[in-house]
Amino acid sequence: MSTPARVLVLNSGSSSVKYQLLDMNGGERLATGLVERIGESTSRIAHSPSHGARREHTERIDDHSAALRAAAAELARDGLGLDSPELVAIGHRVVHGGLRFTEPTLIDDKVIAEIERLVPVAPLHNPANLLGIRQARELRPDLPQVAVFDTAFHTTMPEYAARYAIDRATADEHRVRRYGFHGTSHAYVSRKAAELLGRPYEDTNVIVLHLGNGASASAVAGGRCVDTSMGLTPLEGLVMGTRSGDIDPAVVFHLARVAGMEVDAIDELLNKKSGLVGLCGDNDMREIRRRIDEGDDEARLAFDIYTHRLRKYIGAYLAVLGRVDAVVFTAGVGENAAEVREAAVAGLDGLGLAVDPSRNAVRGGGPRLVSPDGARVAVAVIPTDEELEIAQQTFALAGAGESGSEGAHESRREGGRESGRQSAVEGHA
Ligand code: ADP
Repeated sequence: MSTPARVLVLNSGSSSVKYQLLDMNGGERLATGLVERIGESTSRIAHSPSHGARREHTERIDDHSAALRAAAAELARDGLGLDSPELVAIGHRVVHGGLRFTEPTLIDDKVIAEIERLVPVAPLHNPANLLGIRQARELRPDLPQVAVFDTAFHTTMPEYAARYAIDRATADEHRVRRYGFHGTSHAYVSRKAAELLGRPYEDTNVIVLHLGNGASASAVAGGRCVDTSMGLTPLEGLVMGTRSGDIDPAVVFHLARVAGMEVDAIDELLNKKSGLVGLCGDNDMREIRRRIDEGDDEARLAFDIYTHRLRKYIGAYLAVLGRVDAVVFTAGVGENAAEVREAAVAGLDGLGLAVDPSRNAVRGGGPRLVSPDGARVAVAVIPTDEELEIAQQTFALAGAGESGSEGAHESRREGGRESGRQSAVEGHA
């Protein structure tokens, strides 16, 4: 029997804290939970132990400190208390690591100060992530705590993919460049794709399509990200639930000059009222498909715009990578919406891409191929698991990674240029 080793993964948002406790000897999820509407009188705590019934209740939770104590109390009820010696580390999701953080990082006061320095580029996320980090350190100051950054996987992008073609001096002064997000998911899924294909990760080229409410594509060559669709903020790239993705930047000037809109209103329009919801009023792909089946033209057009953009990115990344072993769909839409997968590769047979209708129609399950046997490029569905990835990276870095963890691995890359202050709009990735 290997020594019990647990890792707590925390994802702190501005008004919510999501947590998962994982057993690193095999990666079993011992409990998952969510504290939401923090600061309101009707905060909700939902807790699901793996061995036992789900519990949910409403009570006033004033702040992140109280949220973490509430989560700890729920875990303690299942005999999984945070004071247990089996808890070996805490992993935190941190949205923006700029260029400074290219890999998971052990948290100390200096790291906290660096994450703080990146607040101007991630005004919604990094402050909330920091609240979680500070509270967790108060709760267990003795434990190693690790920050795992959404941007880190993308720091390997070559300069010609990361830089916008704008005036260099202005870009450098304000650190305007493409950072990319959802990196933890892109890293996890691209590695799993190599496993599914039975190929060494270092020799596998993958296009990952992370299609959740936020959506991003990445081109991964031998385990290194070489391009991704999100940029300075998560607004760039694919059509998303509520975000426009790529548009002519002059749309912003036009709306300011001709429609007289303020910058904040345009920010809100493009981040919250665009994408699928802007096009047809719904951002849930299930609802959009239901409406299409009833003959709704607005929903049909929204779907076609969404999948046309996907096809364009697949084509672009085929060209970026030259040789592609797999196109992989993941996250809520990517894992569940067979129609999206089919439409995204429709007409690309000439490029070696196709789905097998009966394989594509299979619902649920783990990593699987949906392309026909013998296809030049595999098309796969791989459920993402950002929490497991964060737990594994945390465990590996906390110095416990050698003791029998099934999936513990080092995920390190080189880099480490300095990032600094910048001002930018930001949404939630
Ligand atoms: P996020 O983590 O970005 O909030 P998820 O990865 O959970 O998002 O994806 C949420 C989206 O997945 C929903 O908005 C919905 O459009 C889509 N989705 C979830 N289940 C299904 C399903 N069974 N069929 C089609 N789409 C689905």
